[in-house]
Amino acid sequence: MSEQPMIEVAALSKTFGENTVLRSVDLKVARGEVVALIGPSGSGKSTLLRCLNLLVVPDGGRVRVGELSFAFGSSARLPGTQALAKFRAATGMVFQQFNLFPHMTVLANVMEGPLTVRRMARPAAETLARSLLAKVGLSDKAEQYPSRLSGGQKQRVAIARALAMEPAVMLFDEATSALDPELVGEVLGVMQALAAEGMTMVIVTHEIAFAREVADRVVFLRDGVILEDGPARQVIDSPREAATQAFLSHFH
Ligand code: ADP
Ligand code: MG
Repeated sequence: MSEQPMIEVAALSKTFGENTVLRSVDLKVARGEVVALIGPSGSGKSTLLRCLNLLVVPDGGRVRVGELSFAFGSSARLPGTQALAKFRAATGMVFQQFNLFPHMTVLANVMEGPLTVRRMARPAAETLARSLLAKVGLSDKAEQYPSRLSGGQKQRVAIARALAMEPAVMLFDEATSALDPELVGEVLGVMQALAAEGMTMVIVTHEIAFAREVADRVVFLRDGVILEDGPARQVIDSPREAATQAFLSHFH
């Protein structure tokens, strides 16, 4: 294991007002590794994920993704707009709510980042976008508007749009929680295919069976602290901590 981790978080802390949400979190994710982040509502999962692409600016600690690294704290200089944009482009994020541009076709949604942020030429951006729509099984929806799609299809477009930035890592925050049950599988299928291709991923999910099957590691967060971190099957089948056990018992 000489290669350095793709994601490295050290002593990460975040407080909102009086509410300390992350308490000196350390986390490393290897290149190609899939980590499922689980834990009770309010434990800080979304905040941790948002700190990984600096949608939330940490109060203290360090965040590194690939070659891009930032330190936070009273003496640290906050990243500038350009550095932030570069960092966010390296970390694709998929949310529970799909956040597609409603006035743009599916194809235009996926082309937007390549055109405006990556400044790709239009033909190249279109080729890329069409290949990503094929990858998520939506070639035939390219000219549709998002309002015509099912939730599962919208979320697959959102994944294609994130991939169009050619990110180093993909972050998923409850990507299937807003979907009707019969549409969950098609989105998990796309995520599983990405994992199989070697994408580095951090997935906040309540799909415990999926985490067990697809993740390499499961990290259990409670009250802003990583209580347990281990191989997916070990953590899910035989958690060491009573709190992990209690949490997982809700899913049986
Ligand atoms: P989880 O995703 O595990 O449910 P969150 O990270 O969303 O947890 O939230 C953790 C805590 O941080 C909660 O108490 C929540 O109310 C608080 N919190 C999250 N985001 C903000 C924010 N932008 N402003 C104030 N409080 C926040
Ligand atoms: Mg959350």
